Amino acid sequence: MRKIVVFTGAGMSAESGIKTFRDSDGLWENHPVEEVATPQAWVRNPKLVLDFYNARRKQMHEVEPNKGHYALVDLEKYFDVEIVTQNVDNLHERAGSSRVLHLHGELSKVRSTRNPNLIYTTENWEIKLGDLAEDGAQLRPHIVWFGEQVPQFETAIKITQTADIMIVVGTSLVVYPAASLIEYVPFNAPVMLIDPKAEPQSRRKIEIIRGTAAEKLPELVKKLISNENT
Ligand code: NAD
Repeated sequence: MRKIVVFTGAGMSAESGIKTFRDSDGLWENHPVEEVATPQAWVRNPKLVLDFYNARRKQMHEVEPNKGHYALVDLEKYFDVEIVTQNVDNLHERAGSSRVLHLHGELSKVRSTRNPNLIYTTENWEIKLGDLAEDGAQLRPHIVWFGEQVPQFETAIKITQTADIMIVVGTSLVVYPAASLIEYVPFNAPVMLIDPKAEPQSRRKIEIIRGTAAEKLPELVKKLISNENT
């Protein structure tokens, strides 16, 4: 089976009802990112940060995967598919994709502020000040905030280096280091980008498919499956 690596960003979940921020008003659900998604914000106002992610987590439970997420599940019948996502929602998993690496963390997980290896899956949407990990430290969202290291990046590079085909969906390719991932795609592997607006700055040849994930991804998947079967 040929290997397809799919790299997804916030646009992947837009048609499920989860807003992107970079392509609209530069705010994330009415907040400047520095106020809610940085280590400095956590020190300054942990309650605001917890409330912000509680709201994101609650919303995640209220929305559903879209046709784009489901198309990637169909692709697994014909290709060895691995998804690397910048998204913190769990819509790929809920659609049924089996291999998903989260570069920027997961809303459905929380961790100790003292020991980054004490990670818990939470069914509950709300974390409060005073909710503690086993080591007695406050729980925080299991999210890579702006300005923090991206611990899964090396793994993402290794996955990308195995691609026969790379599909990028719904990402402006401006958040580093994630955006540099496409530079690791093997030279002879085609790279396709589905996005209504992105203007990638890359030396790589990229086939740009203008449109949305829910509209263009099912079409692309159908085409790839039909080419593979002829
Ligand atoms: P981004 O920089 O990757 O930009 C979003 C991209 O999505 C833009 O290029 C836009 O043209 C495209 N887009 C918009 N609607 C689309 C659609 N229907 N189909 C396909 N593409 C579409 O993302 P961002 O919003 O600036 O977020 C940056 C980071 O913030 C993410 O990497 C993530 O860590 C976090 N974030 C996560 C979520 C989520 O988990 N769903 C949502 C917002 C932000």
